Amino acid sequence: MEDQSEPTFDTLTVSEGEEPFENGSEAGDVVSPIHLASTFALPGLDAEMRLEDVDPAAGEFVYGRLSNPTRHALETRLAALEGGAHGAAFASGTAAIFTTLLAGVTPGDHVVAFEDLYAGTRRMLNDVFQSRLGVDVTYVDATDTANVAAALREETAAVWMESPTNPKLALCDIAGIADLLADRDVMFGVDNTFASPYFQRPLELGADVVAHSTTKYLNGHSDAIAGAVVTDDDALAEEIRFLQQVGVGAVSGPFDSYLVLRGMKTLAARMDRHEANAMAVAEFLDERPEVSDVYYPGLPSHPDHELAREQMSGFGGILSFELDGDIGDAKRFVEALSEFTLAVSVGGVESLIELPAAMTHEPLSPAEREALGISDTLMRVSVGIEGIDDLIADLKGGFAAMDRRQTTPSAEN
Ligand SMILES: *Cc1c(COP(=O)(O)O)cnc(C)c1O
Repeated sequence: MEDQSEPTFDTLTVSEGEEPFENGSEAGDVVSPIHLASTFALPGLDAEMRLEDVDPAAGEFVYGRLSNPTRHALETRLAALEGGAHGAAFASGTAAIFTTLLAGVTPGDHVVAFEDLYAGTRRMLNDVFQSRLGVDVTYVDATDTANVAAALREETAAVWMESPTNPKLALCDIAGIADLLADRDVMFGVDNTFASPYFQRPLELGADVVAHSTTKYLNGHSDAIAGAVVTDDDALAEEIRFLQQVGVGAVSGPFDSYLVLRGMKTLAARMDRHEANAMAVAEFLDERPEVSDVYYPGLPSHPDHELAREQMSGFGGILSFELDGDIGDAKRFVEALSEFTLAVSVGGVESLIELPAAMTHEPLSPAEREALGISDTLMRVSVGIEGIDDLIADLKGGFAAMDRRQTTPSAEN
């Protein structure tokens, strides 16, 4: 008898959307060709190809902004990995989030968002939606669902969350917030960039729409800027598609689509390794006297550890920690590292470290940073897939550089 079971997640990452002899390929390519054409020859004037009826799934393509075979393969796989019916690929995570929020709100509406949000999304909400489009925004500490409930208003049209957040790795209860919104006409969106669909699937937990910066784990190789949205809601998907193709037009190009499609094939293997390395780094840091706090959902000491165990199938590869010292110590530490590259961004195979107060969260005011608990010695680490012994040795070198200064103050006199 044929085995009728659905392919597993790991299998979908490798092949979903890339059937040989389909998707515009007659040669039987086992990977999706990069279709560069901006426009596609139509079968003839009589052919019933009204723009709205063009169906990429049936191999119909008209113009590259509307759809493209390489992007279509990517969108098909993204939808499958997040367990939704509709996927849309964008030129960046920012474009994906902007387009989704635009689909969900109109002037006069209100948005509730996690205060510990990606700094770029916060700026978008403040400086585009609030200042220019007349959409009011309330930021809440969403680690407690009651705070989300308290912020809801009659005119709340969207709730926008991340979990885990950046840079403090706080979690919100996605299923709990979905329950709270069940009887309301509110678009509940979750930016799932940090967990990736390998460790967390917000649609299954009750979110309406999931967004990604595929620049991060889904591509995984720090060589493309791209974004994605997945939803199971047909009406919302139609609105997002209209904005993606016509209203905004910030689509993922063929080459970037190909890179993300290729990167995703190794998602499961990479995420397992990212997590194992991150856990080892977190445990190592937790033991160091120079470190005052480690923020990683995989540590039992993390305030949301139990929630992480419930709503995620793994803890991810990103953590942050605070040095017991001043900005000078933080700089000496970072400058002594060689395996961890000083750079913003996360989710690539190589380990990166950054100082949020001086880099990603520098645009926020000192008061905003303080309110978010972002001190001058908070460091965010994206743990790569290198050999763990090399990573630990590198961090030890960082502490040695810091301690040398502390233990030999008179050398400078
Ligand atoms: C990087 C990132 C974004 C923005 O994505 P881009 O691809 O840089 O536009 C949004 N959300 C999170 C959580 C991110 O890490």
